[in-house]
Amino acid sequence: MIAENIAQVQASIAQACERAGRSPQSVTLVAVTKTKPVTMIREAIDAGLRHFGENRVEEASEKIPQITTPDVHWHMIGHVQSRKAKQVVPLFDLIHSLDSLKLADKYARLAQEHNRTLNVLLQMNVSGEESKEGLDAVNWEADADKRAALWAETRAIAALPALNITGLMTVAPFTDDEGIIRPVFASLRRLRDALSEELARPLPQLSMGMTDDYPIAIEEGATIIRIGRAIFGERS
Ligand SMILES: *Cc1c(COP(=O)(O)O)cnc(C)c1O
Repeated sequence: MIAENIAQVQASIAQACERAGRSPQSVTLVAVTKTKPVTMIREAIDAGLRHFGENRVEEASEKIPQITTPDVHWHMIGHVQSRKAKQVVPLFDLIHSLDSLKLADKYARLAQEHNRTLNVLLQMNVSGEESKEGLDAVNWEADADKRAALWAETRAIAALPALNITGLMTVAPFTDDEGIIRPVFASLRRLRDALSEELARPLPQLSMGMTDDYPIAIEEGATIIRIGRAIFGERS
C-alpha cells in the first residue's frame, strides 16, 4: 500500500517536472511521518525513500533513534519553541522552520557546542494567513518597510556562526483554489531570488508543496516537497 502510494507520488512528480521542463532529480521527496508509526517509516525506507519529516520534537525523539538504516535524513518541518531547540539539533539534518533571530541565535550556539554546521531553511509567511508560522513576508514586494525589516532580520541570522542557510520554506494557505496557491509559491521563489542577491550567496532550496498542492509547487520551482497523507493516508 505505502509502496504503491510512493510510486504514484513519484509518477506525479515526474509529470509535474515534465510540464515544468525540470529533471525529477531536482525534487527531493520528504515523507512526512508525523503521527505515523515506525513500522510505516520502515515500509517507506524499503520502498526506497531516504528523507523523512517530523513536526514535533517529543515524537521525533522517540521515533528517530529506532531507525538505524544508514543515510536516512531527517527534516524538522514544525515550529520549534526555543526551549526545545536543544533536542532538535542532534536529531535533524535540515531544519525547515527557522522563523526568528532569537531561535537562530539559540541554534547557532547549540550547533557550535556540537561542533557542527546546522543546515536551515528560513520559513516565510508570504500568504498572511493568521495561523501561519514564519518570518513576516506578507506583501514583501509592495511594502518597502516590510522588506527592509525582513532583510535586516535575515542578514542578522546569516551573520551567525555555525548556521548554513540553504533556502526558504513556506506553507500555502489551506484552500483548493489554485489561483490563491500558485501566487504564494511564485512569491516565495521571487523572495528567494531577491534574498540570494541581498545576502550575496546562493539559496538553492525551496521547500514548498504538500499532498494537496505539490504539483503546483514543483511547477513554481520547489526543490523539496513535504508529503504526508498521499503516502501514509489520512492522519487520525
Ligand atoms: C503535516 C505537514 C506536511 C504534510 O502534509 P500532507 O498534507 O499530509 O502532505 C507538510 N509540511 C508541514 C509543515 C506539515 O506540518
